[in-house]
Amino acid sequence: MRVGLDVGGTKIEAVALGDDRVDNATVIGRERLATTPGEAGVVASITQALSQLTAQLGTGLDAITSVGIGIPGMIEPGTTIVRHSVNLGVEELDLGAALRTVLPARVRADNDVKAAAVGAYALRGGTGSMAYLNLGTGVAAGIILDGELLGGARGGAGEVGHLSVDPQGPLCRCGQVGCVEAYVGGAALAERWGVPAAYPVRDLFDAADAGDPRAIVLRDGAAFGAAAAVRSLMLSVDVETVVIGGGLSALGDRLLDSIRERLRVEGETSPFLRSLELGARMELLPVGSPAAALGAALIGADDMREGALTHG
Ligand SMILES: [Zn+2]
Repeated sequence: MRVGLDVGGTKIEAVALGDDRVDNATVIGRERLATTPGEAGVVASITQALSQLTAQLGTGLDAITSVGIGIPGMIEPGTTIVRHSVNLGVEELDLGAALRTVLPARVRADNDVKAAAVGAYALRGGTGSMAYLNLGTGVAAGIILDGELLGGARGGAGEVGHLSVDPQGPLCRCGQVGCVEAYVGGAALAERWGVPAAYPVRDLFDAADAGDPRAIVLRDGAAFGAAAAVRSLMLSVDVETVVIGGGLSALGDRLLDSIRERLRVEGETSPFLRSLELGARMELLPVGSPAAALGAALIGADDMREGALTHG
């Protein structure tokens, strides 16, 4: 079986796919467990996830043919070395080396947003060109052009969160002003809203719906930032569809409608923008779909080209 892991700051999602490639994106096993932070904790959590997954399917670790890991942080291209994964408390960790003692299978790793892009692409049938825009704590995108995940010369393709779209905008944690992420990143929104709540962005949208003027400004700013990201992706690489996922996508149509409204207003003065029909080319990743773990499994098996694309 091919296994994919989405290693997040609070939980690990693990999925297993069969080896036959007939239904390439069909999940045959799925497990979810809490992540223990730190280098040793992350390795222990991954090992535990693999054990639970194989136990669920009545096999052992030797039944795993490949493992793909989607993880936040910077992955050194062509390696399994992850660096500066702040949410996981990991400074540097070679996942492949750490798992070699417990696992005979090949291990590959990629950034979690890129893994989610591959998974979303497979879930949509694996054809054409698509961008996955992650609106979570931070903002980033994964771009797939005719079946190939765009990496970039330094692995930075799709970092649209740090496109500065307003020279008078708020300060971003990256040091620039007016970044997309400073407008629509969950962490930036929560900080600027400043009201303690279990789900600060939802609280902010609720307050905006109730007429709170400060909340309306922030919600409109979020739509402005997200619209800028969508526009940038469409204009630079002309993907057919932008799929929106990440924590903010749980807001559903409230989020999508606010972005569409912003794009509509921008189109009022630009027949060119209007002709691109940007609003109609966005969709939400279905809530609860294991896109990142699925994509990690496909990356781990190196099925991005042959498998995910020829099947659906
Ligand atoms: Zn920035």
